[in-house]
Amino acid sequence: MNTNSAPAAKSLRSIARAEKAAARKAHAEKMAKLHAAAAAVVATGKCPECGAGIHRNSSMTGWWQCDRSGSASFRRDPSGAHCSWQTFTA
Ligand SMILES: [Zn+2]
Repeated sequence: MNTNSAPAAKSLRSIARAEKAAARKAHAEKMAKLHAAAAAVVATGKCPECGAGIHRNSSMTGWWQCDRSGSASFRRDPSGAHCSWQTFTA
């Protein structure tokens, strides 16, 4: 049995763990920034692309869409051109 490999392997595992933790933290921080920016847009109550109203889509937490999104009869705002703007605040 090679007793020298155990500490090295353990050290590699702890490095990998630290890298994963750092990546998770970086991702969480990035998402928090994106969600904060999206929340600021949502707070205006207007689509940033076409100026129509926006609404929450209850099928996913934090999902907001332009009132001019969706197909024909499902559009909340049938005026103007179709708009596919959407964002996530969570
Ligand atoms: Zn729009």
